[in-house]
Amino acid sequence: MNCKKCGASLESSWKICPNCGSPTGVQKSAQHKKKAIYKNGWFWVAILLLTIVLGHRHSVQKRNKG
Ligand SMILES: [Zn+2]
Repeated sequence: MNCKKCGASLESSWKICPNCGSPTGVQKSAQHKKKAIYKNGWFWVAILLLTIVLGHRHSVQKRNKG
């Protein structure tokens, strides 16, 4: 793509033209990104609880058999 003002060739990630300093119209996409679920602390708490519950069940079944 090229600058609308001066016509200099621009990278798609550039927000401002290095030649004339005018904004290229590239919008900030980082702010619109959704939060990854593994970054949420509660996701790991749920995984931990699930592991404990499943492990407990397994040990109880073993005890009943033996
Ligand atoms: Zn320019």
